[in-house]
Amino acid sequence: MVKCSRCDRSAVYVNKISNIAYCKPHFVEYFEHRVRKTIRKYGMVQPGDHVLVGVSGGKDSMALLHLLLKLRGKIPGLEITAVLVNEGIAGYREKTIPNLVNYAERRAVRYVIASFKDYVGKTLDEIVRDSFERELPYMPCSYCGVFRRYVLNKVAREIGATVIATAHNMDDIIQTYLMNLISNSWDRALSLSPVRSSSEEFIVKRIKPFYEVPEKETTIYALLNNLVQLEFVQCPYVKYNVRFVVRKMLNELEEKYPGSKYGLLRSLLELLKMRGKDKPVTKKYTRCVVCGNPASRAICKACLFKAKLGLLKPGEERALYEAARTNPEVARLLRV
Ligand code: SF4
Ligand code: ZN
Repeated sequence: MVKCSRCDRSAVYVNKISNIAYCKPHFVEYFEHRVRKTIRKYGMVQPGDHVLVGVSGGKDSMALLHLLLKLRGKIPGLEITAVLVNEGIAGYREKTIPNLVNYAERRAVRYVIASFKDYVGKTLDEIVRDSFERELPYMPCSYCGVFRRYVLNKVAREIGATVIATAHNMDDIIQTYLMNLISNSWDRALSLSPVRSSSEEFIVKRIKPFYEVPEKETTIYALLNNLVQLEFVQCPYVKYNVRFVVRKMLNELEEKYPGSKYGLLRSLLELLKMRGKDKPVTKKYTRCVVCGNPASRAICKACLFKAKLGLLKPGEERALYEAARTNPEVARLLRV
């Protein structure tokens, strides 16, 4: 039996890189200290902030909610609202929703459940079916990611949130980094910073407090705090996502050569530093001509998808075709 490096209790986790073993209380202390340090280092949260925590009911996001709630006593005026986006994936999301609902009701945490059906017009299952029928070239995870961001932005505006916190951990970040390298998408790789903000008033700051912690540790933290059951539920659309191949590959690499994941994160941070993007990214955005959400082009990706799927409301459709008449970029995007 391995003993905790700090006391006589038995260890629940051994960090293979530092070779430090942790018992339950010392692991919780170490993990929370580490995340608080990231939050402070990147100035993620300020007194008086209203933080929207994006929660799926899975281990990472439940761990983030739990940890941020503990910060409430330490940061004056900090408000927290958990927001769960229900994509509408039969047999999947309904299994994780009770984790949030039970937790939030037990602790009187404010929460909102926002569905694709209400905010986009259809469930993800319906969107995927329509997309195959229309022979559109997009994969389920593209719709899922784009519409999830769209719904979170809308809810953030509705509830007056000043910050959106998501539970992306170090593994998520380096998987995306590697995928961006493979597809030669340097712009996207350079946007993988821990904080994204803008001087534009309509942009809600986005933070990733788990940026520097591996998935293994967020999982242990969630399990030790009884935030989720040790039950494996997998999205049925996983097979369409290259991320899961990259994830498996990185886990195998880490198993053989411990420290590889940190190496990749350091490489990303170095790249951000070289490009002056290690500070909060203050990218210039415009507003989508249809929905007013932040967009890097005249029309946001969500509205483009909605247009292709026939999901725009009559007013939105008018705004889009009006824009297409006067803006060649919008006309081109609609044709592609
Ligand atoms: Fe969404 Fe794809 Fe993740 Fe499923 S696997 S929840 S479709 S991003
Ligand atoms: Zn839009």
